[in-house]
Amino acid sequence: MKVQLKEKYDLYINGQWVPASDGKTFVTTNPATGEKLAECAQATKDDVDAAVKAAWAAFPAWRDWTANDRAALLNKIADVIEENAEELATIESMDNGKPIRETSIVDIPWSYEHFRYFAGAVLTQRGSATMLNTMGFKGDSLSIVLREPIGVVGQIVPWNFPFLMAAWKLAPALAAGNCIVFKPSSTTSLSVLRLVELIGDLLPAGVLNVVTGGGSRAGQYMLDHPGFRKLAFTGSTEIGLDVAKAAADKLIPATLELGGKSANIYFDDCRFEQAIDGLQIGILFNQGQVCCAGSRVFVQEGIYDKFVEAAVKAFNSVNVGDPMSMDTQMGAQVDETQMKKILNYIDIAKAEGATIACGGERFTEGPNAKGCFMKPTLITNVTNDMRVAQEEIFGPVAVVIKFKTEDEVIAMANDSVYGLGGAVWTTDISKAIRVSRAIETGRMWVNTYNQIPAGAPFGGYKQSGIGRETDLSILDAYTQQKNIFINLDEDATGFYPEK
Ligand code: NAD
Repeated sequence: MKVQLKEKYDLYINGQWVPASDGKTFVTTNPATGEKLAECAQATKDDVDAAVKAAWAAFPAWRDWTANDRAALLNKIADVIEENAEELATIESMDNGKPIRETSIVDIPWSYEHFRYFAGAVLTQRGSATMLNTMGFKGDSLSIVLREPIGVVGQIVPWNFPFLMAAWKLAPALAAGNCIVFKPSSTTSLSVLRLVELIGDLLPAGVLNVVTGGGSRAGQYMLDHPGFRKLAFTGSTEIGLDVAKAAADKLIPATLELGGKSANIYFDDCRFEQAIDGLQIGILFNQGQVCCAGSRVFVQEGIYDKFVEAAVKAFNSVNVGDPMSMDTQMGAQVDETQMKKILNYIDIAKAEGATIACGGERFTEGPNAKGCFMKPTLITNVTNDMRVAQEEIFGPVAVVIKFKTEDEVIAMANDSVYGLGGAVWTTDISKAIRVSRAIETGRMWVNTYNQIPAGAPFGGYKQSGIGRETDLSILDAYTQQKNIFINLDEDATGFYPEK
């Protein structure tokens, strides 16, 4: 599909498209070709302030929408995304470099599924009414608990799933009745800006505001702003710590979805074909730029040699190249900085004494010479203490570590500061459950990888974050409890002094 992008995209504040107050912009490029795609407004402190003020002005009326009215609106948003799925998938692939078959099958459908899930979920959210009496007081009372929105929330997302991460944040926050100031990554702002063009008229002005710009500017201005009642962040653990500190300074809650180095564990008794398939889904999906990527691969000694041989063969057959071709399995890394970071880790692996079993370099064949393409990479002769086994590389690079026993692999898997994803591959269900329970992580897959539908909680243990998204529990995190406590006894006024 041919998409006509605008030359310049403004900020979306109070239902209006406005340039940055100082007129400054930044350029966003296509990582597969190096070509400029568009310019986006670089939000200033004043712009962030205007967005927060617009959100607060919209809040009283939006808060009073009933749950079913908000649910109907979320369903409309989902319909608009589905109707425009092809265009949105194309923009996402152009801006991010990910293959069109992933954006068409995963990013955009998972996003409208998310809006539909929260349209339904908000209708199931219940308060309570409980008859109580208080010691020392006469008469009975009725305690009513309502869930109320928090107010204006600040949301910041990364570049790896720009549209899907927006859906993860926007759908529950809107469903719960909050107003939003949202910042996409400056590397990949276009799909969310296009979404706002499509759905802006459905929302009352000020309910959703989008400020674009770099992290150290627009992002930092958001962290510094006193007007937020909650921060929600997806991104690196490093910046996540800054968000946590900013939230602590304001005494407001923060939901943090951060980095990972997840253990993908293969036992001798796994189904072998499925295992090699799962290895690829775990580390090559989205060019390995996945927070929960199966980047630390543990293989039991009985199948180790056969596994490495099959994995190298599979990695060497992956179709890398033009993100716009439906045949492409792996597209471009998001930008040159990210590609160089990955290449640097390959050098670190070599210096640490590991072996590059395949890949380990840029893919520059034919028309891809100017793009940020990497070859699928498998690194062997790795020990769990090496930097490449402990640090998040965020590319199509898996390190493989041999193990003997269940206890040994559990200990190695847990020897990490992160705890986001992970998987166990075995035909023994008792072992699958035992190992899943023993690993300190928020999500363990069994005989699959990277499935993240709405309806199952996703989030991190340890340095991988605080809070869960993608299920009902995030609605609690976007609401607070209001207790209305009613004295039902017309004669009794409260505390009675006679003993
Ligand atoms: P990043 O932390 O560099 O940036 C994330 C967002 O924060 C961007 O919008 C950026 O502009 C903004 N930002 C940067 N500096 C800021 C500052 N000082 N103040 C406020 N905002 C600031 O992350 P990235 O490189 O865009 O994304 C990759 C990271 O995201 C990886 O670590 C990955 O694991 C993580 N991630 C986690 C999840 C999850 O669900 N746990 C999902 C996707 C990505």
